Amino acid sequence: MDLKRNSKNFDVESWLHYADELGLGPFYLDRPVQIAAPNLPNGVSGASPSVSQRVGTPREPSVSASAPTDSSVRVGPSGGRPISAPAPVAPLRQSPPVAPQKSPAPQAFAPRVEAQSLFEERIENDSLERIRQDITPTCTRCKLHKARKQIVFGVGNPKAQLVFVGEGPGRDEDEQGEPFVGRAGKLLTDMIAAMGLRRQDVYICNVVKCRPPENRLPEKDEIATCSPFLARQLAVINPRVICCLGACSAQTLLNTTQGISRFRGEWFDYRGAKLIATYHPAYLLRNPAAKSEVWKDLQKVMAVLGLQLPRKSKP
Ligand code: SF4
Repeated sequence: MDLKRNSKNFDVESWLHYADELGLGPFYLDRPVQIAAPNLPNGVSGASPSVSQRVGTPREPSVSASAPTDSSVRVGPSGGRPISAPAPVAPLRQSPPVAPQKSPAPQAFAPRVEAQSLFEERIENDSLERIRQDITPTCTRCKLHKARKQIVFGVGNPKAQLVFVGEGPGRDEDEQGEPFVGRAGKLLTDMIAAMGLRRQDVYICNVVKCRPPENRLPEKDEIATCSPFLARQLAVINPRVICCLGACSAQTLLNTTQGISRFRGEWFDYRGAKLIATYHPAYLLRNPAAKSEVWKDLQKVMAVLGLQLPRKSKP
């Protein structure tokens, strides 16, 4: 037995020496194994360790796609068992994190009062009377003249600290030539009284001076044509507070198209005066629940003007 084994060992040894002499060995001890690079996602080059990344997705660590080197994995003569521990995978290369690209955040709303050429006009020694004369009772500057009975200029204290600005005259106003005299006007009078003031203490006017047909809102061109007269009225009166009643006047004076609910009750600057917008009394007639919101706005006005709540008269 031993002789046979020794004879086989000798044969193997001889064969290996023969292989060495032919320059083939020692393949049986130290043969590297190439491991194929894994399938790579699009954008990953096998030659480059960098990984292209879509902005906005968490950055995946990039892995070197090159095959392990000889020293990383070796198989022994048995054909599969590693004879040395695989070298650690090259450190994951990570680019600095890329901040996800967000869609532009909605800007906080802040209506701006932008200069408009007609609004910029400053007339020397202007007065309410001069503005009224400039309009003329027969004004035909815009199409609102066609259905109106008379121009509704404005009413109240020419030196008022508080000016209410509505959108345009209604039927009653068109009849009487005075702003806010219908049902909505009565409600405004009550609101003014709740502040401890009288109608004659404040000034009341509208953006357009002629009644829009069917009590519709004034249109853009009508506002653009008539509103410079409003600007002149405000410049002459020079109030501390302007209270816009409804979206139309607020949007006109703040030069914005934003809905009033976006900025109702907020303070803005209008040429040195404090401007606040609240709901129109006509809206309150349809939505009495909104009266509490309007009252809050009026209390803000009272605070600025230093007005105290009027004492209730004893029954
Ligand atoms: S709304 Fe103004 S601009 Fe138009 S006709 Fe009347 S006063 Fe003239």
